[in-house]
Amino acid sequence: MKLWRYIGPQQLKLETSDAPHPGSGAVVLRVTACGICATDLKTFARGHPLIPVGAVLGHEIVGVIAEIGAGVSGWRVGERVAVAPYLGCGQCYFCQRGNYSLCEKLYEAFIEPGGFAEFVRVPPRLVQRGMFKLNADISDATGALFEPLACCIHGLHAIALTARDSLLIIGDGAMGLLQAELARHIGAQPIIVSGVTPARRARAQRVADAAIDPRATDLIEEVKRLTNGYGTDKVMLSVADTRLVEDALQCVARGGSVNIFAGLPSKELLNLSSYRIHYDEVRVLGTFGFGPDDFRQAVDLVNAHALDLDGIVTRAVQFDDLLDAFRNTSIEHDIKSVMVTSLSP
Ligand SMILES: [Zn+2]
Ligand SMILES: [Zn+2]
Repeated sequence: MKLWRYIGPQQLKLETSDAPHPGSGAVVLRVTACGICATDLKTFARGHPLIPVGAVLGHEIVGVIAEIGAGVSGWRVGERVAVAPYLGCGQCYFCQRGNYSLCEKLYEAFIEPGGFAEFVRVPPRLVQRGMFKLNADISDATGALFEPLACCIHGLHAIALTARDSLLIIGDGAMGLLQAELARHIGAQPIIVSGVTPARRARAQRVADAAIDPRATDLIEEVKRLTNGYGTDKVMLSVADTRLVEDALQCVARGGSVNIFAGLPSKELLNLSSYRIHYDEVRVLGTFGFGPDDFRQAVDLVNAHALDLDGIVTRAVQFDDLLDAFRNTSIEHDIKSVMVTSLSP
């Protein structure tokens, strides 16, 4: 089979290798779509502390079952599925406490070799709890949004977003836009998105009550104006810029919560107002990844057409053109790129 191997910053190499065999309890998928995630782009741009050279990137995977290992029941060859790239083991200290994304064995059962390959092996843990059928009317590219959606569901769950809340999302990338769609579904109001990219802000306008360009408008003043002076009850920081933590903290209402959802540079320290945290009872937290329930909920919402996902995937890339897509993904014009194989419907 063909695969794209990451061989260092700015380099992906098209290679051929043997297709994986499922072995007992596992299945092999022929990949029909794989989203290009900010993590993949970051790794390609400048390397990633957790992703070694030689890895195959891609973890937002839709595929068709090509081969089924011994002892797997309930699945047929030819079925189209989306699969979680990892899932908590369910048994370790953190999983027992419901903190599945902190699982000590998170990466022991991972999709192999990675989504930018013609075939992937889905290990038993993921076959049992992380593989879901895609309804026939859901496109491959849309199915590749399950994993980012699951991360967003996990993040909104952590700040307990409800219909009684107002929400500010800082960041107009795919994650911020998906959070806005989820917040609309939950009933939060107003939903305010802050972002610097016109095309993305235009997409945000379809779902949010306001889409603000913080370079043209004073974000804090505008958020206060839209919330009767209170600020928003909840804030999602969905762009990886440490300087924006302070904005988030100034925009949140008393008693509200801020989720540092984006992965900020790991060595940077934050400047937080102790007054806001103590006297204003503002909570600051962070989330990473997703748990099994988050992934299942993402699948259910998409299969039920509960979210408007049109216009999130702005670019479909053929397998052979992947390197070009990595080099030329433009923040100005693309919201989310997804690799699709020519056999996809
Ligand atoms: Zn991702
Ligand atoms: Zn675990």
